[in-house]
Amino acid sequence: MKSLLSRFQANRALLLTLVALLSIGFLAGAQDESATTASVDQPATPSVGEKSAEGLTILVVGAHPADVFDQCGGTMAHHVARGDRVYCAVMTTGVRVHDKVISDDMEHAVSVPEAEKLNAMMEERSKVKQAEVVKACGILGIRESDVFFLGADDAVLLVNEPMIRKIARLIRTLRPDILLTHLPNENGGYGSAHATTGQIVMYAKSFAGGVDPGDTNPPHKVTQVFFFGQGSAAERTHLSSSEGGFYNDVFVDITDMAEKKVACFDALESQGYNGPYARKRIETCDGAFGRQIGMAYAEGFISLYSTRHYYLPISPEDLKHSRMSNHEVIDKRSHRINVP
Ligand SMILES: [Zn+2]
Repeated sequence: MKSLLSRFQANRALLLTLVALLSIGFLAGAQDESATTASVDQPATPSVGEKSAEGLTILVVGAHPADVFDQCGGTMAHHVARGDRVYCAVMTTGVRVHDKVISDDMEHAVSVPEAEKLNAMMEERSKVKQAEVVKACGILGIRESDVFFLGADDAVLLVNEPMIRKIARLIRTLRPDILLTHLPNENGGYGSAHATTGQIVMYAKSFAGGVDPGDTNPPHKVTQVFFFGQGSAAERTHLSSSEGGFYNDVFVDITDMAEKKVACFDALESQGYNGPYARKRIETCDGAFGRQIGMAYAEGFISLYSTRHYYLPISPEDLKHSRMSNHEVIDKRSHRINVP
């Protein structure tokens, strides 16, 4: 049991340990010129290697427009507030499964419009959703030029080489220390844009470690990958409860950012995440993670790599928690945000 605990604590301390280490890169771009100013293929300002003294560079890749907020909005807000560079990439337009007009209204229609009209409608709704993402990123302090829309159709997203090349190019250009994305095995690893996105990012991560003719950016190796825990390891918090499956070995206390996260959801109106859903979501997902780990609201992650240390890693949060009484822990995790 002790060895399990040590392993768990060591893994959980990973994020904080990494936080002490690396540096920052820079660029702006997007595939859809209507939303932002540059493209993944031809970055507008490829300032490779532009680094601050201790800042981290983080790239978050979500399958659908809401995923980056849903899975790690509070964590992104922490890093932005600390001065780290946080980039967001959205793989698909998300219009088919998460849009008020294209998915919901069509559900009860007698028939859907002809292809040409439907395509035009989807393009229009895609822009609405992009604008919502940009607005929500703004709430977290992420600038519009740091948001990338890959524009893939969310009908059938398969692992494909062009998209792998685009993400790899993004990695070589932005030079992230940390990648955040979906677990490639989510829900069995098939039939889901989440799992496919995770797989594409993993291929891209490997490819970015080498050269690509046409991309003048040098190879880049990512230091760590954190997979989103919400979709893959809901409420599992330690090795013995994972039963051979996945569990979150890193939790980030997002209590101080929970209201911002609700504001992000409120911005995602086309998705129906605004209003009551936003409030329910923060309590039932981030609140549930928090309850499990002794925090009010938390985001969970599954780290890809083992980590290197000279001493055994223990985070300040873990030390503080282990010295709290049971009632102090209950008080801490009972805290609720009060957003109208
Ligand atoms: Zn999603």
